[in-house]
Amino acid sequence: MIGKSPLNIHAVLPASTVNGPGSRMVIFFQGCTKGCRGCFNPDTHPIGPRESFSVEDIFSRFYSTGLEGITVSGGEPFLQHDGLMDLLKAARERYNLNTVVYTGFPYEDILETTALSICLPYIDVLIDGSYEDERKEKSLLARGSTNQRFHFLTDHYDLADFHMPGKVEVIIGSDGMIKETGFSRIDILH
Ligand code: SF4
Repeated sequence: MIGKSPLNIHAVLPASTVNGPGSRMVIFFQGCTKGCRGCFNPDTHPIGPRESFSVEDIFSRFYSTGLEGITVSGGEPFLQHDGLMDLLKAARERYNLNTVVYTGFPYEDILETTALSICLPYIDVLIDGSYEDERKEKSLLARGSTNQRFHFLTDHYDLADFHMPGKVEVIIGSDGMIKETGFSRIDILH
C-alpha cells in the first residue's frame, strides 16, 4: 500500500504541458482558506469532501509512461500535508517523477513549520505566494501573478524551464464537459 493518508482531490489531469516542464500529471487538491481575489479555481476552495483518492489510486488510474513529473496545485496542497508527502514520495521513489508544487503559503512559513516542512525533501520546485489579481502574470511564465516566487530546491530545473509553450490547454473531461487549464481561469466553458 502506497501512502496511508487518503487525499481530498478536486481533479486530476493525466497529462498536461502548461502546468510545468514537459508532460505532467496535474493533481488539484480540494480545499483552500486563503480567498485570494480573482483566484483561478474557486471551486477548489470548499474544505468538505469532494473525491477521496489514495496515493495508490492516483497512480494506478492516471499514471502513464512518458510523464516527466507531477504538478500539485489546488486548492492548498499543504492543508493535507501528510497525504501530500506520501504523494510526492511515491512520485519520486516509485515512479521516478520529479515534483512541482504550488502553494499560497510563503516558503519561509513552510520551512519553520515541522508538519509542513516534511514535504520539502520531496519537492523539486516550489512556487509560493497568494495570487494577486492586480499583479497578474502576462508572460508565459508558469505562475498566476508576479509576486509568486520560484524556489528551486534541487538542480533539476531552472527558471527557463517554466516558460510554457502556451497559456492554457482545452480538455474534454470524462463527463464530456469542455474545460481549460493552465495560467488563465480553470473554467467550465460549456
Ligand atoms: S489562488 Fe491558490 S491560495 Fe489563493 S485562493 Fe486560490 S487556491 Fe487558494
